[in-house]
Amino acid sequence: MYDLQEMKQLAFELEQDPDILPYINMEKGSIEALPEYLDHLGFKHATLIADQHTWKAAGKELSSIIEQGGCEVTPVKITSNTNGQVLADEASIVQVLVETPPQTDVLLAVGSGTIHDITRFCSYKIDAPFVSVPTAASVDGFTSKGAPLILRGFKQTIQTSSPIAVFADIDILKEAPLEMTAAGFGDMVAKMTSLLDWKISYWVNDEPYNEMAANLTRRSLYNCVDHVNEIAKAEDEGIRILTKALIESGLVMLLLDFSRPASGGEHHLSHYWEMDLLKKGAPQVLHGAKVGVATALLIQLYQSYANDERVFGANTSRITEEISRLPDYTKVLDWLQLTGGAQLPSDLGIDSELVHESLNKAFTIRDRCTGLYLINHAKKEDLSLSWRSGHEL
Ligand SMILES: [Zn+2]
Repeated sequence: MYDLQEMKQLAFELEQDPDILPYINMEKGSIEALPEYLDHLGFKHATLIADQHTWKAAGKELSSIIEQGGCEVTPVKITSNTNGQVLADEASIVQVLVETPPQTDVLLAVGSGTIHDITRFCSYKIDAPFVSVPTAASVDGFTSKGAPLILRGFKQTIQTSSPIAVFADIDILKEAPLEMTAAGFGDMVAKMTSLLDWKISYWVNDEPYNEMAANLTRRSLYNCVDHVNEIAKAEDEGIRILTKALIESGLVMLLLDFSRPASGGEHHLSHYWEMDLLKKGAPQVLHGAKVGVATALLIQLYQSYANDERVFGANTSRITEEISRLPDYTKVLDWLQLTGGAQLPSDLGIDSELVHESLNKAFTIRDRCTGLYLINHAKKEDLSLSWRSGHEL
């Protein structure tokens, strides 16, 4: 059983209420235990939110298990858009709000990141708690409060509700498409640059920093890197390690009440690409796939600016030391390849022009000090990178 003791310690250190930590069950077959949990809390009517894929993967079975346990279930199967995808946008949110019956006392998010973002927003708005049932180890947002929503074509993150419980069933998660597991690995690899960016901002900008939060996130990251082979094979142990890491990264964000350790310049590059795809009406790409690719890019950029006093000023030597601890970007590409994930922006349909533009503009997306931000402020000419294939990006 998952032990929340360390997270409670972090809550104590941050003077945060430990009761916001969800109950976590990440055993094999954990969904079988969900009816008893719901009954224990006195829930009588659950609204189960899924899409057509996650309904088949887990929603249908879960629905009948819960009904047998004596709790009524209303399923809401969110309709796909014209690209055949479900987005966390106005259409999905309104569908859930319209189809959720008034007697609902608990929501169940059955799916990956997008289903969770829609559910957490609706949970917040109708003031009913929600339980997370991830169907893929694809993202670290299950346990956090932030809901990145697409409103009028723009992506914005709104602080909403975190789940009261997570039932992460390893048997379900290991059946997820491999590209989703690879994306989860990508979202963990991203902590290499996000943790560095947090430290840079702490030194340069005096931003609040917490060593324990950073260490917990770093440990989760390296657990995944050390077990990349098991993760790539979607074996029980690999999926368990990846799921635990993703859940922990989300819990750290929840307790800090901000996403700093888990989201830096690599997430800004990814958001820039995502907004471009939205503008063009093109299909969306998995979040973790984009941030994994962006991490390799950013490491290459940071390594090429190490020791540059124009960029890092009085902090140059300590930032350079931190940069030197990053693995070479080619190593990151190898790990991504091993998991079957995308390595290059072109693997995701992102062309070199957009990559070039994002390197020079993505730092403006959020008012956050990052290495990317500092490099852009000190640069004399446009940033560009040469990839290992020798192609100029
Ligand atoms: Zn992420």
